[in-house]
Amino acid sequence: MDECIFCKIAAGDIKSDIVYEDEKVIAFKDINPAAPVHLLVIPRKHVPSLLEIGEEDKELIGHIHLVLQKLARDFKIDRSGFRVINNCGKDSGQAVFHLHFHLLGGRPLPQNLGGQ
Ligand code: 5GP
Ligand code: ZN
Repeated sequence: MDECIFCKIAAGDIKSDIVYEDEKVIAFKDINPAAPVHLLVIPRKHVPSLLEIGEEDKELIGHIHLVLQKLARDFKIDRSGFRVINNCGKDSGQAVFHLHFHLLGGRPLPQNLGGQ
């Protein structure tokens, strides 16, 4: 996808602070961190949102969660706790339409998950 910022990050055309990559996924630091640890894990392939994943993506989605687990350990938030967030669609505030999972931790996180 030519205009997708996360495709450009995955291709190395836009610089990012990459913390993990393999043939299927890439993980990098969020440019506007909401917590001491704020990483984004994305598939290399362009999938606009969780609504567009299919049967063929089951392994990929599982793999992403193993990477999230590894990063939680690497960034030493496995014992203190962490949150994984996927925003999907307008009401969630999804800003980048390339599937991504936020990994947040390093401080107690707000408990009002649904907002106001
Ligand atoms: P969303 O609201 O779509 O779930 O989250 C998109 C996230 O991507 C935001 O937290 C935002 O700070 C982050 N982001 C947007 N553009 C860039 C970028 O160019 N580089 C990095 N590292 N993060 C970005
Ligand atoms: Zn993309």
